[in-house]
Amino acid sequence: MKLSPRQEEIISIVKNHEPITGDEIASKLGLTKSTLRSDFAVLTMTGILDARQKVGYIYSGLTEKSLLYEAFSEYLVKDIMVQAITVTPDTTVQNAITHLFMYDAGSIYVIDEADHKLAGIVSRKDLLRSAIGQLMDTPLAIIMTRMPNIIVAQPDQTALDAARLISEHQIDSLPIVTADYEILGKVSKTHIVNLLVELSQSEE
Ligand code: ADP
Repeated sequence: MKLSPRQEEIISIVKNHEPITGDEIASKLGLTKSTLRSDFAVLTMTGILDARQKVGYIYSGLTEKSLLYEAFSEYLVKDIMVQAITVTPDTTVQNAITHLFMYDAGSIYVIDEADHKLAGIVSRKDLLRSAIGQLMDTPLAIIMTRMPNIIVAQPDQTALDAARLISEHQIDSLPIVTADYEILGKVSKTHIVNLLVELSQSEE
């Protein structure tokens, strides 16, 4: 969320004169309090200003935190997802490892051949475990984490939802699917970190 120049000015007045009433802020800006009503609403709803009855406005110090939170809630999964690497369940561990290197991916999604729906997911460690166990010719169908145990997200969920799912379930990657579990893309830890860096740069 981007603050207007007037909202920025209000924050700066509150920082320098807190606690300060709405009327006092309005008079410093040469405006009426009612003109500023929506600005006060935005600034208190985002948690940037704290409105205390009979005292006035106080700066909460939360600007960056709340703006980052807002931004993460405004970005949608479909804005940050990328193409997923998909293979069929009969793909061998050996071929899956080749795919990982070829596409520089961290995980591979397994798609059911008949209905094209997400059937499983195989991570780097899954493949490493199979390689150590000398299961190079084993089909992914045997080693994959399968439905219904796969954590997924949908394109219209927020980046914050995706970040929470990744964090709560301690996974590296989140398949993005339609309501019918057809694969649309993926969001990984890397994309969340990239978004975080991008947003903090725009705050500087
Ligand atoms: P790695 O094992 O390379 O560290 P992950 O942390 O993503 O990568 O995977 C850990 C385990 O969780 C693996 O067994 C993997 O199959 C499984 N896994 C990965 N992503 C998901 C997901 N979205 N939903 C459910 N399980 C997953």
